[in-house]
Amino acid sequence: MYSVKRICYQLIIPIVLILVSLMIVWKWPEIQTQFKSTKELKAFLILLPVLPYAIFFTGALMGWRYNNMGLVMGSCVLGLSYFTTLRFTPGQWSNTFYEAYIFLFPLNIIMCSLLIKRYIFAPKSLLSLFLILFQILATAILCGQIDFSSSEIVSKFDRLMPFASIRLDDFSNGFKSFLKMEHLVIFKQIPTPAIISFLLALAYLSGRFLKNRDILLAGYIGSLAAVFLSAAANRLEPASVVFHITAGLILILTNVEASFFMAYNDELTGLPGRRSLNESMMNLGKKYAIAMMDIDHFKKFNDTYGHKTGDDVLKAVATRLKEISGRAKVFRYGGEEFTAVFPGQSVKESIPHLEDFRKALENSQFVVRLRSRKGSTPVKRGRGPAARQKQVRITISIGVAEPGKHQPSPEKVIKAADKALYKAKKTGRNRVCI
Ligand code: GH3
Ligand code: MG
Ligand code: MG
Repeated sequence: MYSVKRICYQLIIPIVLILVSLMIVWKWPEIQTQFKSTKELKAFLILLPVLPYAIFFTGALMGWRYNNMGLVMGSCVLGLSYFTTLRFTPGQWSNTFYEAYIFLFPLNIIMCSLLIKRYIFAPKSLLSLFLILFQILATAILCGQIDFSSSEIVSKFDRLMPFASIRLDDFSNGFKSFLKMEHLVIFKQIPTPAIISFLLALAYLSGRFLKNRDILLAGYIGSLAAVFLSAAANRLEPASVVFHITAGLILILTNVEASFFMAYNDELTGLPGRRSLNESMMNLGKKYAIAMMDIDHFKKFNDTYGHKTGDDVLKAVATRLKEISGRAKVFRYGGEEFTAVFPGQSVKESIPHLEDFRKALENSQFVVRLRSRKGSTPVKRGRGPAARQKQVRITISIGVAEPGKHQPSPEKVIKAADKALYKAKKTGRNRVCI
């Protein structure tokens, strides 16, 4: 349930932006007449075709600042796609260059998705840069955009290796006819090889997205869809501009969202972290209860089963905590300590929910793989998977407090809850104390 919610949430940015852009393209004649009747907006219409470049530039700059080659390359690839869409219109020059790019675009997006969070000067990043430059040169030669036939190097090359030269010509012709392969009936505007390449990228990115639910992957899927729409609209005014703007914005906004998520949420458990708690405390009303929780004997647990297993258990506890009743907001306070805030409730009202959670945790079993203490390799004890697994139980101690005379502010309430937690630890653990 939670994961379905998460998947939908990650897809909101691309879906909303694409829907808005579809509306704009659909209502364009009306929008255009309205814009034309206002002086200031008229200038905007003139500037509109350059707007995508401004957005791609912003994206690349942001990627540079974040040291994220995936975003830099994504912006460059979109820029290339937009440039070829605008520049190589039918009737002008040959259309093959555009066809080559619309075919290569999805493959480039796959490459960008492999560069997520990669540093700009990492070997993989530099390799991708080289691949893009190579692509531009190779397509230019193969699609005959650059005419080398009169240059001296080529005539020498021809004379020296006539066989290789003929081979290159053959390859070039083959490549061109491959790109021009008969168009499918449904998408007359897009050549079949390009459709296949789009579907391939969509399948690959969706598979990865469903597996790790990374919003940045949702961003690449969205950009892919937007450019597909641009290609399907066949350079219809203003589709290529609007859809390329959309593609660029999707990349930027998903990156902003990912950074926001990273700043406010704890990476291991996915729960909101300390910063979220501090903000949430500033927005509490007069009546609330705060519970501080601390897993019992967790140091010993780590010592017995290894830090990695400890991490897995922390994740499992967090998952259960997300489902705590009483509309509580839960946070990872730090280490193996969690905080639950019950807005609009007194300590008395919050206790049943906390007790329910404590008991549920006490009664659940966690299957852990036995690992050696140092590394993450399972301890070789006995044979078969059963021998390496063990069911363990863990308990949690909870201290809860509410605002009062001695603790008027949320900070003080947290301190009071901490004191109550200490009391719970002192009096035997696995209990809720006030
Ligand atoms: P008790 O709270 O019941 O008094 O005992 P404890 O052993 O839990 O005591 P304490 O709070 O002092 O120890 C916290 C331990 O939690 C220390 C550290 O090994 C472990 N811990 C903290 N953060 C993490 C984490 O992110 N991952 C893992 N695996 N362990 C962590
Ligand atoms: Mg602790
Ligand atoms: Mg503890």
